[in-house]
Amino acid sequence: MVSRLDLDGTYSPHGLVTKILSAEPNLRIPVPIEELAHQLDIAEINELATEGFLGGLLTNPQRSFGSILVSANLQRTRRRFTIAHELGHFLIPYHTPQEEGQFLCDKKALGQLDTKSRNQFYRMEAEANQFASLLLMPPPRLRPLIDGKRFPSLETVLEIHQTFDVSKYAAARAYIEYNSECLALLVARHGKIQAIYKTRDFPRLAIAAGDPIPNNSLALSRFSPGALSDSDPADMHEWFDIDELSRVRGLYEQVLGQANGFSMIQLKALMGDPDEYDPEADMTSKERLAYRRW
Ligand SMILES: [Zn+2]
Repeated sequence: MVSRLDLDGTYSPHGLVTKILSAEPNLRIPVPIEELAHQLDIAEINELATEGFLGGLLTNPQRSFGSILVSANLQRTRRRFTIAHELGHFLIPYHTPQEEGQFLCDKKALGQLDTKSRNQFYRMEAEANQFASLLLMPPPRLRPLIDGKRFPSLETVLEIHQTFDVSKYAAARAYIEYNSECLALLVARHGKIQAIYKTRDFPRLAIAAGDPIPNNSLALSRFSPGALSDSDPADMHEWFDIDELSRVRGLYEQVLGQANGFSMIQLKALMGDPDEYDPEADMTSKERLAYRRW
Protein backbone atom coordinates (compact mmCIF):
# COMPACT_ATOMS: atom_id res chain seq x y z
CA MET A 1 0.00 0.00 0.00
CA VAL A 2 1.31 3.43 -0.94
CA SER A 3 2.26 5.84 1.84
CA ARG A 4 3.54 9.40 1.74
CA LEU A 5 7.10 8.10 2.37
CA ASP A 6 7.03 6.50 -1.08
CA LEU A 7 6.53 9.96 -2.60
CA ASP A 8 9.43 11.67 -0.83
CA GLY A 9 11.41 13.97 -3.11
CA THR A 10 8.83 13.91 -5.92
CA TYR A 11 7.10 17.15 -6.86
CA SER A 12 5.53 16.94 -10.31
CA PRO A 13 2.00 15.64 -10.98
CA HIS A 14 3.39 13.02 -13.38
CA GLY A 15 6.12 11.92 -10.96
CA LEU A 16 3.71 11.64 -8.04
CA VAL A 17 1.13 9.63 -9.95
CA THR A 18 3.81 7.33 -11.38
CA LYS A 19 5.05 6.58 -7.84
CA ILE A 20 1.53 6.03 -6.50
CA LEU A 21 0.77 3.62 -9.35
CA SER A 22 3.99 1.68 -8.93
CA ALA A 23 3.29 1.28 -5.18
CA GLU A 24 -0.30 0.23 -5.97
CA PRO A 25 0.00 -2.04 -9.01
CA ASN A 26 -3.46 -3.48 -8.43
CA LEU A 27 -5.24 -0.20 -7.83
CA ARG A 28 -9.00 -0.64 -8.26
CA ILE A 29 -10.76 1.11 -11.12
CA PRO A 30 -12.67 3.37 -10.61
CA VAL A 31 -9.92 4.61 -8.30
CA PRO A 32 -11.14 4.65 -4.66
CA ILE A 33 -10.07 8.27 -4.27
CA GLU A 34 -11.28 8.85 -0.70
CA GLU A 35 -9.55 5.71 0.54
CA LEU A 36 -6.38 6.69 -1.28
CA ALA A 37 -6.48 10.23 0.17
CA HIS A 38 -6.69 8.81 3.71
CA GLN A 39 -3.82 6.45 2.96
CA LEU A 40 -1.77 9.50 1.93
CA ASP A 41 -2.34 11.24 5.28
CA ILE A 42 -5.52 13.19 4.61
CA ALA A 43 -7.09 12.98 8.07
CA GLU A 44 -10.61 14.05 7.15
CA ILE A 45 -12.84 14.85 4.20
CA ASN A 46 -15.49 17.29 5.34
CA GLU A 47 -18.17 19.48 3.88
CA LEU A 48 -17.07 22.89 2.64
CA ALA A 49 -19.49 25.60 3.66
CA THR A 50 -17.73 28.60 2.05
CA GLU A 51 -20.05 29.99 -0.63
CA GLY A 52 -18.71 30.06 -4.20
CA PHE A 53 -16.04 27.39 -3.79
CA LEU A 54 -16.07 23.72 -4.76
CA GLY A 55 -13.18 22.44 -2.71
CA GLY A 56 -10.59 23.35 -0.12
CA LEU A 57 -7.61 22.03 1.78
CA LEU A 58 -6.55 22.84 5.33
CA THR A 59 -2.83 22.29 5.80
CA ASN A 60 0.45 23.99 6.72
CA PRO A 61 3.67 24.63 4.75
CA GLN A 62 5.30 21.53 6.30
CA ARG A 63 2.24 19.46 5.31
CA SER A 64 2.23 17.89 8.76
CA PHE A 65 -1.55 17.62 8.52
CA GLY A 66 -4.16 17.78 5.79
CA SER A 67 -7.93 18.00 5.71
CA ILE A 68 -9.94 18.15 2.50
CA LEU A 69 -13.17 20.11 2.19
CA VAL A 70 -15.74 19.51 -0.56
CA SER A 71 -18.92 21.37 -1.37
CA ALA A 72 -21.99 19.31 -0.51
CA ASN A 73 -23.77 20.10 -3.81
CA LEU A 74 -21.39 18.32 -6.15
CA GLN A 75 -22.32 15.37 -8.33
CA ARG A 76 -20.34 12.23 -7.56
CA THR A 77 -17.89 12.57 -10.47
CA ARG A 78 -17.22 16.22 -9.62
CA ARG A 79 -16.76 15.36 -5.97
CA ARG A 80 -14.21 12.68 -6.90
CA PHE A 81 -12.30 15.09 -9.13
CA THR A 82 -12.32 17.84 -6.51
CA ILE A 83 -10.96 15.49 -3.82
CA ALA A 84 -8.19 14.36 -6.19
CA HIS A 85 -7.43 18.04 -7.01
CA GLU A 86 -7.08 18.95 -3.32
CA LEU A 87 -4.94 15.87 -2.73
CA GLY A 88 -2.72 17.24 -5.50
CA HIS A 89 -2.27 20.57 -3.63
CA PHE A 90 -1.43 18.57 -0.50
CA LEU A 91 1.20 16.37 -2.17
CA ILE A 92 2.89 19.05 -4.29
CA PRO A 93 4.97 20.74 -1.59
CA TYR A 94 5.60 24.06 -3.35
CA HIS A 95 1.89 24.77 -3.80
CA THR A 96 1.06 27.66 -1.50
CA PRO A 97 -2.45 28.87 -0.73
CA GLN A 98 -3.49 32.47 -1.25
CA GLU A 99 -4.58 32.57 2.35
CA GLU A 100 -2.30 31.08 5.03
CA GLY A 101 -3.27 27.52 5.95
CA GLN A 102 -6.20 27.14 3.57
CA PHE A 103 -6.51 26.45 -0.14
CA LEU A 104 -9.90 27.40 -1.58
CA CYS A 105 -10.71 26.34 -5.13
CA ASP A 106 -13.61 27.61 -7.20
CA LYS A 107 -15.02 26.55 -10.55
CA LYS A 108 -12.47 28.65 -12.43
CA ALA A 109 -9.59 27.01 -10.52
CA LEU A 110 -10.95 23.54 -11.27
CA GLY A 111 -11.06 24.48 -14.96
CA GLN A 112 -7.40 25.59 -15.35
CA LEU A 113 -5.50 23.42 -17.83
CA ASP A 114 -2.35 25.39 -18.67
CA THR A 115 0.45 23.95 -16.53
CA LYS A 116 2.85 26.41 -18.22
CA SER A 117 0.80 29.50 -17.38
CA ARG A 118 2.87 32.52 -16.34
CA ASN A 119 0.35 33.21 -13.62
CA GLN A 120 1.61 31.22 -10.65
CA PHE A 121 -1.87 30.78 -9.18
CA TYR A 122 -3.34 29.39 -12.42
CA ARG A 123 -0.28 27.19 -12.90
CA MET A 124 -0.76 25.60 -9.45
CA GLU A 125 -4.44 25.01 -10.15
CA ALA A 126 -3.65 23.47 -13.54
CA GLU A 127 -1.07 21.18 -11.89
CA ALA A 128 -3.62 20.06 -9.30
CA ASN A 129 -6.05 19.33 -12.16
CA GLN A 130 -3.38 17.43 -14.06
CA PHE A 131 -2.63 15.38 -10.94
CA ALA A 132 -6.35 14.62 -10.48
CA SER A 133 -6.81 13.63 -14.09
CA LEU A 134 -3.75 11.33 -14.11
CA LEU A 135 -4.69 9.74 -10.81
CA LEU A 136 -8.34 9.10 -11.66
CA MET A 137 -7.56 7.95 -15.20
CA PRO A 138 -4.17 6.25 -14.84
CA PRO A 139 -2.53 6.37 -18.30
CA PRO A 140 -1.62 2.64 -18.33
CA ARG A 141 -5.33 1.84 -17.87
CA LEU A 142 -6.63 4.63 -20.08
CA ARG A 143 -4.45 4.14 -23.17
CA PRO A 144 -5.77 0.69 -24.12
CA LEU A 145 -9.33 2.10 -24.20
CA ILE A 146 -8.23 4.73 -26.76
CA ASP A 147 -5.57 2.87 -28.74
CA GLY A 148 -7.64 -0.27 -28.93
CA LYS A 149 -10.12 1.39 -31.29
CA ARG A 150 -9.59 1.43 -35.00
CA PHE A 151 -11.64 4.59 -35.54
CA PRO A 152 -12.22 7.42 -33.10
CA SER A 153 -15.76 7.73 -31.77
CA LEU A 154 -17.48 9.63 -28.99
CA GLU A 155 -18.50 6.20 -27.71
CA THR A 156 -15.01 6.04 -26.23
CA VAL A 157 -15.63 9.23 -24.23
CA LEU A 158 -18.68 7.55 -22.69
CA GLU A 159 -16.64 4.44 -22.00
CA ILE A 160 -13.96 6.50 -20.20
CA HIS A 161 -16.65 8.39 -18.26
CA GLN A 162 -18.21 5.12 -17.06
CA THR A 163 -15.04 3.09 -16.50
CA PHE A 164 -13.21 5.71 -14.43
CA ASP A 165 -16.24 7.40 -12.84
CA VAL A 166 -15.19 10.85 -14.07
CA SER A 167 -17.33 13.60 -15.64
CA LYS A 168 -17.84 13.58 -19.40
CA TYR A 169 -15.72 16.74 -19.60
CA ALA A 170 -12.79 15.13 -17.80
CA ALA A 171 -13.24 12.07 -20.01
CA ALA A 172 -13.32 14.24 -23.14
CA ARG A 173 -10.11 16.07 -22.21
CA ALA A 174 -8.27 12.81 -21.54
CA TYR A 175 -9.62 11.33 -24.77
CA ILE A 176 -8.16 14.24 -26.75
CA GLU A 177 -4.89 14.26 -24.83
CA TYR A 178 -4.08 10.63 -25.56
CA ASN A 179 -5.49 10.40 -29.07
CA SER A 180 -3.16 9.91 -32.01
CA GLU A 181 -5.87 10.93 -34.50
CA CYS A 182 -6.35 14.51 -35.69
CA LEU A 183 -9.38 15.41 -33.57
CA ALA A 184 -11.30 18.22 -31.96
CA LEU A 185 -13.99 17.82 -29.37
CA LEU A 186 -16.50 20.60 -28.84
CA VAL A 187 -19.07 21.08 -26.16
CA ALA A 188 -22.14 22.97 -27.34
CA ARG A 189 -25.31 24.14 -25.69
CA HIS A 190 -28.47 25.50 -27.34
CA GLY A 191 -26.64 26.07 -30.63
CA LYS A 192 -23.55 27.76 -29.16
CA ILE A 193 -20.01 26.45 -28.70
CA GLN A 194 -19.03 26.34 -25.02
CA ALA A 195 -15.60 24.72 -25.03
CA ILE A 196 -13.13 23.32 -27.56
CA TYR A 197 -10.45 20.67 -26.94
CA LYS A 198 -8.10 19.80 -29.81
CA THR A 199 -5.20 17.52 -30.54
CA ARG A 200 -2.00 19.45 -31.27
CA ASP A 201 -2.07 18.89 -35.02
CA PHE A 202 -5.71 19.87 -35.52
CA PRO A 203 -6.14 22.74 -38.05
CA ARG A 204 -7.20 26.17 -36.84
CA LEU A 205 -10.96 26.49 -36.56
CA ALA A 206 -12.92 29.47 -37.85
CA ILE A 207 -14.99 29.45 -34.68
CA ALA A 208 -14.24 29.94 -30.99
CA ALA A 209 -16.01 29.36 -27.70
CA GLY A 210 -19.08 31.61 -27.57
CA ASP A 211 -19.73 31.44 -31.33
CA PRO A 212 -22.82 29.77 -32.81
CA ILE A 213 -22.45 26.27 -34.26
CA PRO A 214 -21.77 26.60 -38.04
CA ASN A 215 -24.71 26.26 -40.46
CA ASN A 216 -25.17 22.78 -41.91
CA SER A 217 -23.66 21.21 -38.80
CA LEU A 218 -25.14 17.91 -37.78
CA ALA A 219 -25.19 19.28 -34.25
CA LEU A 220 -28.00 21.68 -35.15
CA SER A 221 -30.39 18.73 -35.40
CA ARG A 222 -32.14 17.67 -32.25
CA PHE A 223 -30.42 14.82 -30.41
CA SER A 224 -32.00 13.24 -27.38
CA PRO A 225 -29.68 12.70 -24.41
CA GLY A 226 -27.42 9.71 -25.06
CA ALA A 227 -28.18 9.56 -28.81
CA LEU A 228 -25.01 9.11 -30.88
CA SER A 229 -24.87 9.97 -34.58
CA ASP A 230 -22.71 8.35 -37.24
CA SER A 231 -19.50 10.06 -38.22
CA ASP A 232 -20.66 11.97 -41.32
CA PRO A 233 -18.78 14.10 -43.85
CA ALA A 234 -18.96 17.79 -42.92
CA ASP A 235 -18.42 21.01 -44.83
CA MET A 236 -14.80 22.05 -44.18
CA HIS A 237 -15.47 25.62 -45.30
CA GLU A 238 -17.91 26.09 -42.44
CA TRP A 239 -15.50 24.92 -39.76
CA PHE A 240 -11.93 25.79 -40.70
CA ASP A 241 -10.00 28.99 -40.93
CA ILE A 242 -9.69 29.80 -44.63
CA ASP A 243 -5.87 29.59 -44.52
CA GLU A 244 -6.03 26.00 -43.31
CA LEU A 245 -8.20 24.64 -46.11
CA SER A 246 -5.27 23.85 -48.41
CA ARG A 247 -3.89 21.26 -46.01
CA VAL A 248 -7.14 19.53 -45.06
CA ARG A 249 -8.65 16.94 -47.35
CA GLY A 250 -11.64 15.83 -45.35
CA LEU A 251 -13.71 16.41 -42.25
CA TYR A 252 -16.08 14.16 -40.32
CA GLU A 253 -18.53 15.18 -37.69
CA GLN A 254 -20.14 13.06 -35.01
CA VAL A 255 -22.61 14.25 -32.37
CA LEU A 256 -23.59 12.92 -28.97
CA GLY A 257 -26.77 14.31 -27.42
CA GLN A 258 -26.64 15.36 -23.75
CA ALA A 259 -29.15 16.45 -21.14
CA ASN A 260 -30.21 20.10 -20.67
CA GLY A 261 -29.58 21.24 -24.25
CA PHE A 262 -25.92 20.16 -24.28
CA SER A 263 -24.25 18.20 -27.03
CA MET A 264 -20.75 16.96 -27.68
CA ILE A 265 -19.27 17.19 -31.18
CA GLN A 266 -16.31 15.25 -32.49
CA LEU A 267 -14.50 16.61 -35.55
CA LYS A 268 -12.05 14.29 -37.26
CA ALA A 269 -9.83 15.96 -39.85
CA LEU A 270 -8.08 14.11 -42.65
CA MET A 271 -4.90 16.00 -43.37
CA GLY A 272 -3.01 16.35 -46.64
CA ASP A 273 -3.28 18.04 -50.01
CA PRO A 274 -6.85 17.56 -51.26
CA ASP A 275 -5.61 16.93 -54.83
CA GLU A 276 -3.08 14.26 -54.03
CA TYR A 277 -5.03 11.80 -51.95
CA ASP A 278 -7.75 9.28 -52.30
CA PRO A 279 -10.39 10.78 -50.01
CA GLU A 280 -11.73 7.34 -49.14
CA ALA A 281 -8.40 5.76 -48.17
CA ASP A 282 -8.69 6.18 -44.38
CA MET A 283 -12.43 5.74 -44.10
CA THR A 284 -14.45 3.03 -42.48
CA SER A 285 -16.92 1.35 -44.80
CA LYS A 286 -19.68 3.27 -43.04
CA GLU A 287 -17.88 6.57 -43.62
CA ARG A 288 -17.22 5.63 -47.24
CA LEU A 289 -20.91 4.95 -47.78
CA ALA A 290 -21.85 8.26 -46.13
CA TYR A 291 -19.21 10.06 -48.21
CA ARG A 292 -20.52 8.65 -51.45
CA ARG A 293 -24.11 9.49 -50.56
CA TRP A 294 -22.99 12.98 -49.72
ZN1 LIG B 1 -7.06 24.20 -6.31
